[in-house]
Amino acid sequence: MAGLCAAARARELGGSPGVFEKGTRAGGSMLLSSGVIWRYRDFDEFRAQCPDGDERLQRVVFDGLDEGLEWLESLGAPVVTRETGNPLTTGVRFDPQGLTDTLARAAGDVRFGQPVTVTVTVTEDPLVLASGGFQGDPELVERYVRPAAPLRVRANPWSDGAGLRVGLERGAALSDGLDEFYGRNMADVDFDEDGFVALAQVYGRFARIFNERGEEFFDHNAVSWSELDLVQATAHQPGARAWYLLDDEALDEQVRYGTVRELVAAAPTRTNPAELPFEPPAGTVAAVRVAAAITHTIGGLRVDDQARVLNEQDEPIDGLLAAGADVGGISTGGYASGLATALVLGRQAAETALS
Ligand SMILES: Cc1cc2nc3c(=O)[nH]c(=O)nc-3n(C[C@H](O)[C@H](O)[C@H](O)COP(=O)(O)OP(=O)(O)OC[C@H]3O[C@@H](n4cnc5c(N)ncnc54)[C@H](O)[C@@H]3O)c2cc1C
Repeated sequence: MAGLCAAARARELGGSPGVFEKGTRAGGSMLLSSGVIWRYRDFDEFRAQCPDGDERLQRVVFDGLDEGLEWLESLGAPVVTRETGNPLTTGVRFDPQGLTDTLARAAGDVRFGQPVTVTVTVTEDPLVLASGGFQGDPELVERYVRPAAPLRVRANPWSDGAGLRVGLERGAALSDGLDEFYGRNMADVDFDEDGFVALAQVYGRFARIFNERGEEFFDHNAVSWSELDLVQATAHQPGARAWYLLDDEALDEQVRYGTVRELVAAAPTRTNPAELPFEPPAGTVAAVRVAAAITHTIGGLRVDDQARVLNEQDEPIDGLLAAGADVGGISTGGYASGLATALVLGRQAAETALS
């Protein structure tokens, strides 16, 4: 998304950008997403939810989002609803296919199957790194996130850290929170894009949460609304797995896509509590085996408030910009909309490049 936003904005400002797209289609993970582009209702809430993020960058995203949303609509991106369904946040839900088509049209020159790499210099002009994070490279995930076992990827198949590598090659500094990621605890089976939402088990806050050794490693009362803290903690358990154990009360809880009972019934890894490898707590009537999956990394390149990539001395690297999940330090310590970061920093990168 960030690259398309940068190109579309650059064209609007009179530039002649080209988008080098590794994939066979436009839209990256944006196309696979639920399309909800959001921010916290007030900045203090953003700071409280993502306390370890870079406040200057958070300000840029927070302040720039409403204008960015209006811009998307002005380009013709189709709105599904102006509700996020979360009282803490405000934003707009777009149809992901319509959003992708709109941005690809506005970006103009998108060249498919043309990856940016450290060895291929694509341009002498300013370069905006927008490759969507490093979740697709198991080696980088192992180095920075350090999960207990390889994580399944719940994202487009092409984002494997090219932005990070190019940035490092050119002397970039990295943000804090390199071990953090946005993802979901999924039913512990192999899946493809069709399973990204259907297999997500987002009701850990109602479950008792155990690892394979039978240790209750996370207090369900402490699980955050996004459940990212639980997903990240699961990644560090044996096998990067967990068991969600549910009693009758938990099964009756309502979550986004139905009751917990309905989600559990549909989960391919639901298990009879009698068959668990450890003694479950009294009252457990259902169990689901989950594994942490990664959608995108939260740590990444360090940039300033103009989307310029910074070196270790905090100086901008000439002609190098970054946007979207290639940038670290925005939702550190919590969760914020990745689509919002892509939209705002993508637009900002274009404005900086053409200023
Ligand atoms: C199931 C699902 C639901 C989601 N729902 C939401 C939601 O409702 N709200 C929200 O805010 N976020 C959501 N997200 C997250 C959101 O999709 C991402 O945060 C967002 O797409 C990140 O934008 P980006 O531009 O950084 O990466 P992407 O949108 O993934 O774009 C990166 C692009 O870079 C390309 N690329 C990778 N490597 C190279 C290379 N070497 N050279 C050239 N091109 C390259 C990729 O092919 C891709 O097209 C969801 C994600 C998923 C998977």
